[in-house]
Amino acid sequence: MGGGQLGLMMIEAAHKFGVSVTVFENSRSCPASKICDDLIEANFTDLNALSKFREECDVFTIETENVPLASLAYLSEKKALTPNIEAIRIAQNRILEKEFAKSLGIPTVPFVEITASNIEKIEKFLFPAIVKTARFGYDGKGQVTVSRRSELLEKIKNLDYKHYILEKKVPLEMELSLILVRDKLGNMASYPLAENSHEDGILAQSVMPANVHPDIEKLAVSYGEKIARQLDYVGVLTLEFFLSRGELLLNEMAPRPHNSGHQTIDASVTSQFEQQVRICTDLPLGDTTLNYHVKLENILGDLWFLGDNAPPKEPNWHEVTGGVKILKLYGKNEPRIGRKMGHLITILRKR
Ligand code: ADP
Ligand code: MG
Repeated sequence: MGGGQLGLMMIEAAHKFGVSVTVFENSRSCPASKICDDLIEANFTDLNALSKFREECDVFTIETENVPLASLAYLSEKKALTPNIEAIRIAQNRILEKEFAKSLGIPTVPFVEITASNIEKIEKFLFPAIVKTARFGYDGKGQVTVSRRSELLEKIKNLDYKHYILEKKVPLEMELSLILVRDKLGNMASYPLAENSHEDGILAQSVMPANVHPDIEKLAVSYGEKIARQLDYVGVLTLEFFLSRGELLLNEMAPRPHNSGHQTIDASVTSQFEQQVRICTDLPLGDTTLNYHVKLENILGDLWFLGDNAPPKEPNWHEVTGGVKILKLYGKNEPRIGRKMGHLITILRKR
């Protein structure tokens, strides 16, 4: 389900094993459409299309968590869905994610769900804060910073109270992500932590392995394994963390391969995408060893708009790569500001 760049790279991995992939996506021009074996062009709620999809395929997975649960339930009635619906349900909603973490004793930033009745009572210590849509946010979209309660009241006037979370804005020493894999038998493995830098809420750069104390790494892996076990998770699972005042806080989780793991294509024995394919097709987990220190930089649509008011222009890739960086483009037909168009990989040194 879904035909974005994560789908594209999953299909590339599937084809290495001769596995055919049908993509379900409502756009013919999505990145994955160029190489998929079949495309079902429909909305995620289109029952006729879902029925055809369910007949045609043997096993289902997602490349976006924003698929209606009812559609996933329909697919998984007859055939395997990786990961399971409960994991996706939690990962769709920041409030559920943080409550779930809390229930397992995994720390998060202080947060509160915004409702019509509690808005006047939100405690002072939570400010300055970030208000986020509970669902559908990505790349920092659907987020506003508020410095005090009066500003919150002002900004929230037009919001639908049911679906917002308010998080304390915490100082960030470092942002980290953990990509973990778990198969149907419960075997687990993980990649080294990635150290992520964001610009305007969008991942700009990610370096693997992160430069952190081994104790932080161990703690992150223990949180990840706890979550995966609790959810009986099968597939690739990503956890985003904040390191704030020495404490490791869970920010959010993604029930799929992640932007901060694209380095694994070029620098690991097995990529995060190949892992998803292996798990879906009952092959054993691949080796998560990272052979190189590696850096990923995202290429945003901004790069097409360098001239003032000029129409978008294809970047000079020789200049962008300096002849040494590995270039990956996702084949999106329209560059837009803030849109992820591709990425660059720099192999830094051997480990
Ligand atoms: P998205 O789903 O858009 O990735 P995130 O919750 O990960 O949403 O927020 C995007 C970025 O905004 C984070 O990677 C971090 O840099 C910053 N951010 C988010 N929440 C907080 C917070 N509570 N305190 C400080 N910075 C935050
Ligand atoms: Mg995030």
